[in-house]
Amino acid sequence: MSLGSIARKLSRLERFSNPKLELEQYPTPGELAAELIWTATLNGDIEGKRVIDLGAGTGVLGIGALLAGASHVTFIEIDADAVAILGRNVEGFDTDRYTVVTTNVSEAAGTYDTCIMNPPFGAQAKHADRSFLMHATRIARTTYSIHNANSRTFLAKLAADEGWRLQVLAERRLPLKSAYAHHKKPVRDQSVILIRVETY
Ligand code: SAH
Repeated sequence: MSLGSIARKLSRLERFSNPKLELEQYPTPGELAAELIWTATLNGDIEGKRVIDLGAGTGVLGIGALLAGASHVTFIEIDADAVAILGRNVEGFDTDRYTVVTTNVSEAAGTYDTCIMNPPFGAQAKHADRSFLMHATRIARTTYSIHNANSRTFLAKLAADEGWRLQVLAERRLPLKSAYAHHKKPVRDQSVILIRVETY
């Protein structure tokens, strides 16, 4: 399957109907989700691999991994409303290939080849991105994640402290649609980085 066809499929998925500010429910646009999956696939981290999607939301990243040939995807999401949408989005895939768990990321157990995620950036729960990354590196050897570009220095220091290999794979502008009433402008742009973290 090509990058373009993964992006098209992911763009057509059902989105959050009522995104929750306190959980930082920003969906990853189909193109960026497909870029993450495509890059991970080229690195040999998706096909035939056991993948976990932390803070899966409506499932766009994990479904990308299923499309790209992951052997199994575990979706972890705390919000039952998002999980209901995820359940509809993942219909049609062989149920042996995925598991959906409604829980806090900190409760996600097991071992995985690859973690994929677009965690809360920490605007609501401070350092949420840090706790997602800390947990991801405990359960998966390699992690692909999306962060606020302003976190670059913080991430480099965290990786050095923890002994991770950190690569910044791409920097992209993300149009954040005004899903929340407190946003004054209809569309905000945010610079984000796509990173790969490998533990030793
Ligand atoms: N992965 C999806 C959603 C990203 S938004 C996508 O790429 O489109 C971040 C998601 O993390 C939201 O769905 C939010 O509900 C979930 N989340 C936030 N804190 C969480 C926690 N502590 N445990 C599990 N999920 C959490």
